[in-house]
Amino acid sequence: MPEQSVFAAELSWADYDARVRGGDTPILLPIGSMEQHGHHMPMNVDVLLPVEFARRVASRIGALVAPPFTYGYKSHQKSGGGNHLPGTTSLDGATLVAALRDVLKEFARHGVRRICLFNGHFENSWFIIEGIDLALRELKWSGIDDMKVVVLSYWDFVDKDTINRLYPKGFPGWEIEHGGVLETSLMLALYPEQVRLERAIDHAPASFPPYDVYPPKPEWTPASGTLSSPKEASAEKGEILLQVCADGIVKALETEFPR
Ligand SMILES: [Zn+2]
Repeated sequence: MPEQSVFAAELSWADYDARVRGGDTPILLPIGSMEQHGHHMPMNVDVLLPVEFARRVASRIGALVAPPFTYGYKSHQKSGGGNHLPGTTSLDGATLVAALRDVLKEFARHGVRRICLFNGHFENSWFIIEGIDLALRELKWSGIDDMKVVVLSYWDFVDKDTINRLYPKGFPGWEIEHGGVLETSLMLALYPEQVRLERAIDHAPASFPPYDVYPPKPEWTPASGTLSSPKEASAEKGEILLQVCADGIVKALETEFPR
């Protein structure tokens, strides 16, 4: 008998039911985007990375990983290059909120009472919170008031010491890390065959004025599509990030979802 998958959708409904009915098994739900990530990486980086973090964490805390959201909220020029770029394919905020609310309520119907959202795309952040809020409010109206939802983004688990190790020449900030050292290093560690580092364009970190303009001004976004250079990325840095973030997330979920 093969070992049971941590991916919920790979189980039969009966096996899934047996795992979640009592409410103790956490469901980890990755939320990403389809978004350009420079010339050197594919457009599903924001899906692949949270799915892999969720997979690693699930096997350590006895959780299941739900199928990811593969589309997310619109790319913002200052954190993802902008929604005007070819390939980037986004949902309206209301669509994302409604879809997330529906899925959370479905898990509640199955008996799930512990859910953690693994965000892989900065722009999703407030819409995730809105989806959770609406789901919890409606569940309460239906008499379900014991659902707990944790929301996190893996990069928030990178501590200061690790930042200093990974960015000896100075840290540009998470917002303009888009397609930079963090994501490229993780992809090199996990999916090296999908990274074409020779195509990466080396440029100074993007700098923006302290306001936004709509429609966006394409000239504000570096021609590469990345907002900081991925040239200093490496598989070794990716391994460090995988360990630091996975350990941090496991600790957080052991605190919030005690067994
Ligand atoms: Zn990304």
